[in-house]
Amino acid sequence: MTGRILVVDDMEPNIRVLSAKLEAEYYEVLTANSGATAIMMAREQRPDLILLDVMMPQMDGFETCRRLKADPITQHIPVVMVTALDQQTDRVDGLQAGADDFLSKPIDDIALFARVRSLLRLNSVMDELRSHLNNGQGTDATNKLMALSKQTGGKVLVVEESERFGNRIAEKLGKSFSCQITTDPKVASTIAATGFDLILINLATDLFDGLRLCARLRADEATRQLPILCMVDAQAKDRSVRALDLGANDILERPVDRHELRARCQTLLQRRVYAAQLRENIDLSLEMAFSDQLTGLFNRRHLDIKLEELQVRFNDNKEPSVVLIADIDHFKQVNDTWGHVAGDMVLQQLADIMCESFRAIDIICRYGGEEFVVLMPDASLDSAKSAAERFRQVIAATSFDIGQAKEPIRISVSGGLAALQAEQSAKQILSRADAALYHAKKNGRNQMIAAISSKKDTKLTG
Ligand SMILES: [Mg+2]
Repeated sequence: MTGRILVVDDMEPNIRVLSAKLEAEYYEVLTANSGATAIMMAREQRPDLILLDVMMPQMDGFETCRRLKADPITQHIPVVMVTALDQQTDRVDGLQAGADDFLSKPIDDIALFARVRSLLRLNSVMDELRSHLNNGQGTDATNKLMALSKQTGGKVLVVEESERFGNRIAEKLGKSFSCQITTDPKVASTIAATGFDLILINLATDLFDGLRLCARLRADEATRQLPILCMVDAQAKDRSVRALDLGANDILERPVDRHELRARCQTLLQRRVYAAQLRENIDLSLEMAFSDQLTGLFNRRHLDIKLEELQVRFNDNKEPSVVLIADIDHFKQVNDTWGHVAGDMVLQQLADIMCESFRAIDIICRYGGEEFVVLMPDASLDSAKSAAERFRQVIAATSFDIGQAKEPIRISVSGGLAALQAEQSAKQILSRADAALYHAKKNGRNQMIAAISSKKDTKLTG
């Protein structure tokens, strides 16, 4: 995976070494020699990842990170702190400033690339989610989500080599996390999908293969999104690298420091909540983009897409499909006599009847005011006409509720049908159905008429 990485360090030689390593792996590298420059560049260039030196004059790495994470424009960019000090207090300070990860100088190449790959992968997923959302709603929604996701605590599954070790981890996590402990990776992979927010796996044991468990969790659809935090021995770099490549989200070195443990768990949980909320919002905005708000039927945009698809299928393998345009007769009178609220109630009830009248595979859309379109895939003109006729009869026999203290009213519908034809555009098919509808109206309404077409002219049948 390629990406743009911003390298921040006050020492020119450090920048050169790190840039050379990253460029050799085909990453695009941007550089900054101070915290202030880094913030400016992050805002303007939107890198995919920032490697940030901790020890810098004026603004140090912690403060730079805090500012990047407080700015809505840059807060999503993963930050890896590069520290000369291998002290746990530094790590905790960094995590509290919002850093996503750490590397110690001198930088180990394998560890560097494993971290970079893992964070870029995460970032690209989050980016995709955000861009879907931003297409509809702007950055306000994402900021709101970011704030919402700052919840604390969660349900953690701890996979340790003994109950005693597990309990020690649970004790370090503190009261805001509820922990379940298991010493069996098979049990872990079975129960992982049952409501846990996070799984903590000890990789530094010979009693079970934690890496295999990581792989299994990632391969299973039900646990693919579950955050994995692995505990490793500081000297077992290759295991950390394998774990990150297998899809573990974060690594924690043993002996486990309680502050670092809590901070890393917290970060993973917030990301999980954030991603889940993004996904939910996308589903909602997609639904809104393709449905009619009053009736809940599909809207015209969806109709255009589906009709195009049916036409392509017809051209490919002559799969017959039919389009029906139905229109409520004299609907203006309903609105004029009873008001728009009553009119809306009629439209909603009619939409419900449509959903019951046609097949589940039929695509029912509100086309305009009182005009509806039904796409009937894999249907002959005869069977489509029978369905339309049954629908017309149900409507004619139904009393429509228009609110309390008012007598229910009766309405009727007229419709025009047209079968898909070779070398006709979606627009041409709709206009053939529309012409049939026009004849139904002219013929006295409350009827369905099908257009039987040759290539040149359109004949009609009542
Ligand atoms: Mg420095």
